[in-house]
Amino acid sequence: MTSQVTPAFSLEFFPPRDAAAQQRLVDGAKQMLVIEPHYVSVTFGAGGSTRDGTLDTVRTMRGLGCDAAPHLSCIGSSRDDLKALLQRYRDEGVRRIVALRGDMPSGMGASAAGALHHASDLVEFIRQETGDWFHIEVAAYPEMHPQASGPEKDLAHFVHKVRAGANSAITQYFFNADAYFDFVDRVQAKGVNIPIVPGIMPITNYTQLMRFSEMCGAEVPRWIRLRLAEMGDDKESIRAFGADVVTSLCETLLDNGVPGLHFYTLNNAEATLSIWRGLGR
Ligand code: FAD
Repeated sequence: MTSQVTPAFSLEFFPPRDAAAQQRLVDGAKQMLVIEPHYVSVTFGAGGSTRDGTLDTVRTMRGLGCDAAPHLSCIGSSRDDLKALLQRYRDEGVRRIVALRGDMPSGMGASAAGALHHASDLVEFIRQETGDWFHIEVAAYPEMHPQASGPEKDLAHFVHKVRAGANSAITQYFFNADAYFDFVDRVQAKGVNIPIVPGIMPITNYTQLMRFSEMCGAEVPRWIRLRLAEMGDDKESIRAFGADVVTSLCETLLDNGVPGLHFYTLNNAEATLSIWRGLGR
């Protein structure tokens, strides 16, 4: 897989919970402008818990001069809710959206799942309601979505989601480049050629990384786990080792012609910037 296309970099943020976190987010985002992000995206809480937070953060990012894409998950929402939100984003001039199923908050029964059950239903709905207004990004899982019954089924669902009207995809994070290239090959073998941009997770905290990875089905290779575990509470060593590992993954991906990199910044500018500096761009 090699291409001549200049890679496009994007950054993901989550809505801050209070005024102090908001200020840190703005300061960090300003520092990260050096990356010249093609766009930034803003996450959306399951069940709509941060609906206003997502819109506020989209506005903040647009105020910094970034093209900002809200994430929108369909689980737990009615068609009317989704339609109203899409209209709000249109009114704001937003042209890009990350369309997801989302996850049910724990403790909520299946009856609260909402009108649309898969991200493909949401993509179809967005196209029905808004035509080609939005550039639609969807999620991809090189190491398989944790609830899928098998890699082939998951691939078929991904292809269906793209054919429902997605323009490009962002992957779940991974640390094994082969998993990504194998996934892209299998997608292309099905005749689907949209850009599939690797999602990049900086490593700064062992416990948090293991917890996230357990939930989302991303594999942390044994050698990385062992090295991090041995570092215990030595945050500096974890950060330095994490930056080396992830920078080297990014180099491999870029050398092999990926269409871009999407950084899961976790609102932590330094973690992403240390990788960026390592890439020497
Ligand atoms: P889908 O594409 O619907 O897939 C979910 C599962 O359903 C898969 O196992 C798939 O194989 C299966 N499936 C799909 N279609 C069918 C079908 N027709 N029949 C049977 N099974 C089917 N979560 C949030 O809450 N907020 C966010 O902001 C957020 N941002 C994310 C950004 C990225 C880039 C990624 C990779 C994930 C993000 N997530 C977010 C997590 C995401 O919501 C979860 O991974 C969720 O479990 C699946 O969402 P999806 O859009 O991939 O779902």
